[in-house]
Amino acid sequence: MKKIRMKNKLVEIDGDEMTRILWTNIKEILIEPYVNLQSEYYDLGLENREHTKDQITKDAAYAIKKLGVGVKCATITPNAQRVEEYNLSQMWKSPNGTIRAILDGTVFRTPITLDGISPMVKCWDKPITIARHAYGDVYSGTEAIVPAGGRVELLLPDGSKKLVHEFSESGIVQAVHNTDASISSFARSCFNYALSVKQDLWFGSKDTISKIYDHRFKDIFASIFESEFLRQFKMCGINYYYMLIDDAVARVMKSNGGFVWACKNYDGDVMSDMLASAFGSLAMMTSVLVSPDGQFEFEAAHGTVTRHYYKHINGQSTSTNPVATIFAWTGALNKRGELDHTVELCYFAKALERATLSVIESGIMTNDLTSIFSKDNVTARGVGTFEFLRAVASEIDSHILK
Ligand code: NAP
Ligand code: MG
Repeated sequence: MKKIRMKNKLVEIDGDEMTRILWTNIKEILIEPYVNLQSEYYDLGLENREHTKDQITKDAAYAIKKLGVGVKCATITPNAQRVEEYNLSQMWKSPNGTIRAILDGTVFRTPITLDGISPMVKCWDKPITIARHAYGDVYSGTEAIVPAGGRVELLLPDGSKKLVHEFSESGIVQAVHNTDASISSFARSCFNYALSVKQDLWFGSKDTISKIYDHRFKDIFASIFESEFLRQFKMCGINYYYMLIDDAVARVMKSNGGFVWACKNYDGDVMSDMLASAFGSLAMMTSVLVSPDGQFEFEAAHGTVTRHYYKHINGQSTSTNPVATIFAWTGALNKRGELDHTVELCYFAKALERATLSVIESGIMTNDLTSIFSKDNVTARGVGTFEFLRAVASEIDSHILK
């Protein structure tokens, strides 16, 4: 087969540990044999972030602004233990946080469903998509330790002050922010996404307690919905529902699925992991950041799978699930194809997704899926990562691109 030509480059962002190993193998086994890959490569492995004083992370984000499409491998967010392990000069910020702060936008996460894996929550007949606001709140917060006797105040632009707390004992303080512009673009991208998939939109926050901060989210969503989307939603037969976040969580558990759930940044971080595991596995979820200017960054929702990496470097075989990372690549290739009108590239991306899912449906899968797989006349067989990738390649060769 002649390799598919790409008209424009995409941004390729490499990462850490087990997902870095998956990255190389997915490219070698599933992409480069079929596509003449054109990418601008950024190495966000922790050593290179340290070496470049984290400039590489910012460069990667600006490259996505320039080229429009990026695909990112999972990366370590350093904590105290990582600072020691990698001998870091400082505890670099979360690369995802830095990239999202530059691109702004919303992260959409949808479970990858297939025949043989049913959600733990029996009433969930359809996937639930989480729309996570990707700007601000605790992800770009400022924090400090306050000694006993400290008084912390918020100094506002008009010169007035608001007391945060008088510390009789030592303690901690945190300041977070968001902007009307970012909340508005979050709201618009959620309403647009709900229209594009013809599903209801739910949004939950804690406006009863956070009477200014969370209330602002609620008000901005309501006013944009009324003025820009109400009519289109009616015509499409879908609805927008606002509720308290705790009410939303309770209702989600009793729902049939099939809606988009808009979440503030932290809620989306936590709830997407819960949804992913309830739908099967952290490794069975797609994740894409859509910026207000129409740039796309595809990634896996899980981390660098550290435990598996240490097994791997000790020479043991691992059964790390590569599906979310494969789907990050197919999402990016498909979007590049759509933007450049390269039909063959879109076709290949969809074919690779189909091949990946049919291998699992035929009973060959990584170990995280074997205990939850159940399909008549098919026995689940757990295989190592590389055996799985090779089975997908052979599925592409024999059935899809024959
Ligand atoms: P993790 O890498 O997502 O892994 C947590 C556990 O989930 C694993 O130990 C494994 O369970 C299971 N798991 C996750 N992905 C899997 C896969 N593809 N196949 C099979 N099992 C999978 O989270 P973590 O251990 O909390 O974090 C590790 C590092 O990743 C941290 O340094 C963190 O900063 C970083 N992180 C990065 C991102 C990102 O870049 N998007 C997101 C989250 C975390 P078993 O061990 O039981 O097999
Ligand atoms: Mg998370």
